Amino acid sequence: MVTDCLFCSIVGGEVPADIVHSDARTIGFRDINPQAPVHVLVVPRRHIVNASTVSERDGADVTAMLMAAKSVADREGIGGEDRGYRLVFNVGHDAANSVAHLHLHVMGGRPLGWPPG
Ligand code: AMP
Repeated sequence: MVTDCLFCSIVGGEVPADIVHSDARTIGFRDINPQAPVHVLVVPRRHIVNASTVSERDGADVTAMLMAAKSVADREGIGGEDRGYRLVFNVGHDAANSVAHLHLHVMGGRPLGWPPG
């Protein structure tokens, strides 16, 4: 746990969140400023800064994040072949990455279009 990390505080239960998924390595909670009808952030319990800092030692956490995202999508009703969803890792300034704790955006529930705005 890293002091002054918002998502570490959510993992630790010190900051409230609408948690929709929890397992040994990850939690998932609804984004406070949703950009789609379903917008969940999946984060590792262990502090990792962002996708550009991921190394082999983080492999189990990253795999768990992808499995958690699929579980969330299925439970939210957007996982079927006739639906679909977007998974996003923002990295750095130009991507408007605002929280330095790795998180996977799970977004869906409407046609999202491509490229994103
Ligand atoms: P990013 O721009 O990829 O760093 O995404 C950070 C996301 O965290 C944004 O979509 C914010 O809306 C979201 N966020 C910030 N604070 C909270 C919070 N307390 N609970 C849930 N989501 C949050």
